[in-house]
Amino acid sequence: MHLSANDHTLIQNLRAEGVLQNVQEHLLDQSNGVILVTCADGDRFDDIYRHQARMQSQVRRDTRIHPLTSHGGALACAPGSPIHKRKLDSNVFLNQIADARDIKKINLIALYAHMPCAAARRAELDLPTALSLQIQAKNRVRVSNPGAEVHCFFHVDYEGAKKRTYFLSSDRWKTWSSHRHVLAMA
Ligand SMILES: [Zn+2]
Repeated sequence: MHLSANDHTLIQNLRAEGVLQNVQEHLLDQSNGVILVTCADGDRFDDIYRHQARMQSQVRRDTRIHPLTSHGGALACAPGSPIHKRKLDSNVFLNQIADARDIKKINLIALYAHMPCAAARRAELDLPTALSLQIQAKNRVRVSNPGAEVHCFFHVDYEGAKKRTYFLSSDRWKTWSSHRHVLAMA
């Protein structure tokens, strides 16, 4: 399972348009830790976790990362997510996030999705659909966690070359996706 040539082009375009941004410009206040919502993918989890830990090292001596993993990560929280065979399963994962916030009193929630993702591939999700689901998940998590700080990140494994974590901008996504829709309708 690899990134297609089309995926590479799309990611380049999303970066150029500021939908996927370098994370350094968006350092979060992680002084009280973070709830890390990510895919369980054993080939990528380590890189995702380490990146989060590196971000924290600027504000904490020890890491405080509370990982919640499910296949598809943030995509598994979208309403009626196609990641799950049973649609109501998205509620289970959503409740885990609220529980984590309640138990650990951590107010910062980092919602990750990634590519290539076996769970997304199995559900036949292309990249734009995955990003759309991730934004839907963000909105849903915000509603069910009033007052929480919720941000989206997208991890890309360029396979052999490098792995990168990007900040996913909701505002830029809105612009990009509406423009894309306009082009598709033209
Ligand atoms: Zn995955």
